[in-house]
Amino acid sequence: MIEGEHIVGDTNRGTRKRKINTTSKERKREIRYSNLDPDLLNFKNNCDHRSNKFECMELLLADIKIIRQNFYNDEKKNKNAQDNKLAQMMNVKEIKRQRKRKNGKSHEFHTEFYVWHNRKKVFVCQKLFSSIFNCGPRRIHTIVRKKMQGIGIKDNRGGDRKSKKNALKLESVMKFVSSLRGHESHYGRGKSRRIYLSSELNIKKLWKMYNHQVQDDSLQTNYKYFSRIFSNKFNIVMSNLIMHHPR
Ligand SMILES: [Zn+2]
Repeated sequence: MIEGEHIVGDTNRGTRKRKINTTSKERKREIRYSNLDPDLLNFKNNCDHRSNKFECMELLLADIKIIRQNFYNDEKKNKNAQDNKLAQMMNVKEIKRQRKRKNGKSHEFHTEFYVWHNRKKVFVCQKLFSSIFNCGPRRIHTIVRKKMQGIGIKDNRGGDRKSKKNALKLESVMKFVSSLRGHESHYGRGKSRRIYLSSELNIKKLWKMYNHQVQDDSLQTNYKYFSRIFSNKFNIVMSNLIMHHPR
């Protein structure tokens, strides 16, 4: 890697115009249930689990970023929809042997948490799960309780194939764009973290490259979809600098 060269996905955090905040109830709710830290600037993961039980170390920060992006992908920032998604990533199991706690109550249930990564389940500890999806112990407890009672939370097995497919498509495009190499601006470093790609590579060309390299036909996109993700989720500026072709 030469100096000034960056993987696009690593530095997607430049200045961008903010939308005007309205303080309506809906807006507040929307903010609360949206991706507050898409670039994981405040993300702390101190756990180093790598065992049969937890595979937290399997996830790189870039993976977590995509997992989170997929989670918040829905256009409506809806708590119930998110709770349903969370519930689907939790296995609540009954513990056979009940151990008495000091206060006399016994733990009857045990919850496993996992995330989808490369189409596989990666089991993580509750702490990591909570930080990825920004959900505290109270919210998790409520979801577990609802899951046990079978209320409100839908078991989406087999269903909702469309949103699963969309999530995979988004992940695929994000991965592709993240793998592009561009140059960081030499001016005002620290202020601007925009990534500059060769102007010869316009979005249309990149879109064609993407569709050409994608192995699964169902992950192909139309131009509109590709350019929307490209412009909305990455801070990229086309410039005359030399382009390093991805892999
Ligand atoms: Zn962990």
